[in-house]
Amino acid sequence: MSSGPGAIRNLVIVLGDQLDTGSSAFDGLDPGCDRVLIAEVADESEHVWSHKARIALFLSAMRHFRDRIRDQGIPVEYRELGDPGNLGDLRAELLAAIHRLRPVGVVVTEPGEWRVRETIRAAAASAQVALYIRPDRHFLCSTEDFAAHAEGRRQLRMERFYHEMRRRTGVLMEGTQPVGGRWNYDLENRKGFGRQGPPSLAPPKRFAPDAVTREVLALVERRFPGHPGSLAHFDWAVTPEQAGLALDDFIANRLAGFGPYEDAMWTGEPYLFHSRLSYAANLKLLDPREAIGRAEEAWRSGQAPLPSVEGFIRQFLGWREYVRGVYWRFMPGYADRNELNAQLPLPRFYWTADTDLHCLRQVIQQTLDFGFAHHIQRLMVTGLFALLLGVHPARVHEWFLAIYVDAVEWVELPNTLGMSQYADGGLMASKPYIATGKYLQRMSNYCAHCRYDPTQSVGEKACPFTTLYWDFLARHEERLARNPRMALQVRNLARLSGADRAAITKQVADLRRSLVG
Ligand code: SF4
Repeated sequence: MSSGPGAIRNLVIVLGDQLDTGSSAFDGLDPGCDRVLIAEVADESEHVWSHKARIALFLSAMRHFRDRIRDQGIPVEYRELGDPGNLGDLRAELLAAIHRLRPVGVVVTEPGEWRVRETIRAAAASAQVALYIRPDRHFLCSTEDFAAHAEGRRQLRMERFYHEMRRRTGVLMEGTQPVGGRWNYDLENRKGFGRQGPPSLAPPKRFAPDAVTREVLALVERRFPGHPGSLAHFDWAVTPEQAGLALDDFIANRLAGFGPYEDAMWTGEPYLFHSRLSYAANLKLLDPREAIGRAEEAWRSGQAPLPSVEGFIRQFLGWREYVRGVYWRFMPGYADRNELNAQLPLPRFYWTADTDLHCLRQVIQQTLDFGFAHHIQRLMVTGLFALLLGVHPARVHEWFLAIYVDAVEWVELPNTLGMSQYADGGLMASKPYIATGKYLQRMSNYCAHCRYDPTQSVGEKACPFTTLYWDFLARHEERLARNPRMALQVRNLARLSGADRAAITKQVADLRRSLVG
């Protein structure tokens, strides 16, 4: 193919989280006159200090996608990270491709991240090439539909949005009513494992690295040796076929137990009943309609109970669509929200797991080993500790974005800033999700292995979660007293004597000094 001026019609950009030939960017693609551009750029792995497994997963899935579309006869300009002359960031690669190929237009499906969309816009504008940003059909709710839902609402609660999505899609519905007569089975879905621990469970389906993935793993070790995390356990699905097998495995072996135990945690058990499918959906290897449809079918065929199926579908049809809506409605300003004025740096142990708090050591070590922790480990262990301590939400956001294999900004940022850190002041969450160490004692066996005692707030054995919980309530008492959902907790705070409060304040000051200097 010639690369002279006007040699191609459209330059079709495919980003690392858009690995779907059914996406709108491919609509009307003509291999005779269009060209796809996929670029591995170091900047995407370095703008936050990404976990090695996160980098490897993106690169391997991108290379498998390249091979797939090449086999389909689609011409691809693929820039590998190690190519001599790789320019290292998306803007430079895009400008160079425009210069080289002289396209009439640049086509892209709506990027998932505000920063990336603006980069592409700016590059196309500076090269004076028409840019066509097409809607992302992967999602069941468009950004326009979400904006219509949000119009005029002061608070955006997930539950209302989720009901709307159920009605709109007919998922788990009988006419206008939810199947089983209820929208929500959260009350049934908050079980711990008790002393006996989790039932014996087949491990989730693993995918041994093939030649393409092995090459990527070696590249990541070579190129990003100082990055956090390990590649020793890398077994993620990197193609749509593998993602489909992972879904089959989840439906057959873990969906039935997902609901009751979705919040439970156990030492040395990273996956339990969780699906390990979020990253596959986020990279677009898995269509959420497929996951939702298969789960509903499992209930209708009697393979899984309704509370489990509803809990799983809520993640895909509710939370996932909702946080994307929030992200696009409030970016770019959302990333700067810090309503509680938290200012501390992130403790160093978040990158090393070197801490004597057993719950944090467990969850962080698991995260470093696998690039994975489930939603309650994120919300109520690592997220909760940062919130109670008073870490700046931007630092928490950077860590969550860097460290999880499924982290892409549209889903990670609202979950971190809004749900976990309450940094949007209640736009998403009706109250800060705070608890003492006793919550973790109930939902896990972490405390049984810990030198601290979750029932104590002061003294040598005081659990730092419990101490910081009271300190958090005291620091934000005025604000929280205005929130009816926090009334009980604020009343409990009022029962503490002046001496108790002073002891907690002193204990917290020592704790903060030891953790962040
Ligand atoms: Fe975590 Fe506190 Fe329990 Fe230790 S006692 S595991 S620090 S909650």
